[in-house]
Amino acid sequence: MFWQEDVETLAQDKLQELQLKNLNETLQTAKKSQFYSKKLANIGFLKNLSDLKNLPFTEKQDLRDAFPYGLLSVDLSDVVRVHSSSGTTGNPTVVFHTEKDLREWANISARCMYTAGARKTDIFQNTMGYGLFTGGLGFHYGAEKLGMMVIPIGPGNSQRQIWFMKNFKVSAAHILPSYAVRLYHAMRDSGVNPKTDLNLKIFFIGAEPHTEELRREIQDLYGVKAFNSYGLSEISGPGVAFECLQQNGMHIWEDYVIPEIIDPDTLEVLPDGQDGELVLTTINRQAMPVIRYRTRDLTKIITGVCPCGRTHRRIERIKGRTDDMMIINGVNIFPVQIEKTIMNIPEAGKNYIIEITKQNFMDKLNVKIEINDETFGGTLEELERLKAKIQAKLKEETGVSPNVSFVDRGSLPAAEGKAKRVYDLRNEKK
Ligand code: AMP
Ligand code: ZN
Repeated sequence: MFWQEDVETLAQDKLQELQLKNLNETLQTAKKSQFYSKKLANIGFLKNLSDLKNLPFTEKQDLRDAFPYGLLSVDLSDVVRVHSSSGTTGNPTVVFHTEKDLREWANISARCMYTAGARKTDIFQNTMGYGLFTGGLGFHYGAEKLGMMVIPIGPGNSQRQIWFMKNFKVSAAHILPSYAVRLYHAMRDSGVNPKTDLNLKIFFIGAEPHTEELRREIQDLYGVKAFNSYGLSEISGPGVAFECLQQNGMHIWEDYVIPEIIDPDTLEVLPDGQDGELVLTTINRQAMPVIRYRTRDLTKIITGVCPCGRTHRRIERIKGRTDDMMIINGVNIFPVQIEKTIMNIPEAGKNYIIEITKQNFMDKLNVKIEINDETFGGTLEELERLKAKIQAKLKEETGVSPNVSFVDRGSLPAAEGKAKRVYDLRNEKK
């Protein structure tokens, strides 16, 4: 049932004792870095966990500004690995690990997969990118620690993915939700039925926002259970929070991180159950602890205990990032609202992009959807009716009238890594 029963079921008060002790140790370690030696100069020993809210936040920009070694808290000779987050502009953010950090990370990844039902008898295919991206190596070492046979195939090349899944009777896979949809189509095109021709039972899906509806769709297409996996490079990578068999929120491992939810505008800490931005403090990292890191991810802490017996609190599926929000003629919309609507319409395909353009000084929301040729073989008239239906549902969900168009399957841009769903073309020159 449990990977580490004693820790996973530790009573909340005991967990908080442990957190306070490890937080104080972490603050001492962090102060050895150039960045925190200044930032935490006036911070002494914390008597209560609630004192954490008086500490300053750490932002992604701080990590960029401190490039390369400003947040390093140990001697460089003790660092054994560096990872880097997919930055768009400026310096990338880099994250360092000691040998112990890597051991802890492998342990937490193993705990996640075990929690979702994976066992050493499973054959595990890791379709995530290996290298600087943390998705590949993070799960890789966790899976080995758990004792599964690991196929470190990495992303892309769907035919090869299918070949390995078939020939090695792969039972568990780590996969991006957007890629799971594309891989399914590749299987169908090759005459492979994942439900009858393969041995897949468990998917770990994460690294990008996705809806409950898309999860269900993936489960239906493959006949698997798909578990939501949350993480970010700044906090090691995958392994921060993970779903248990209940699939009702992700346990955030409170012996590794202290979660807080803040109001992104006022920066006040919010009580459990309220929506806001997730802030994380690492409490067992050596090379690069981060204190009150603003993730920009929007979620809430679920109140109540989970029937699985784990005491670590749960966070809800990530609703989006504060920087993901689209403002269309003054209306705030998150991409997941659009996904949710599309997934609820069976005739619509599961692959889509969102384009925002400007016409006569007005923003225009354009949604391009692949047609689902399994459920739709209709006439032009039916296609128009379907378009009107999707437009109406999207208007209902978002408050904005979108322009919906259908595209051929396979014609939307396909990323090897995380899917890019939103294209804001408002400032593009014509
Ligand atoms: P990176 O550090 O490049 O791996 O990106 C981390 C970011 O990916 C997080 O801050 C989230 O915005 C997003 N992310 C990771 N896992 C999930 C998940 N399960 N659901 C939604 N978003 C996720
Ligand atoms: Zn649970």
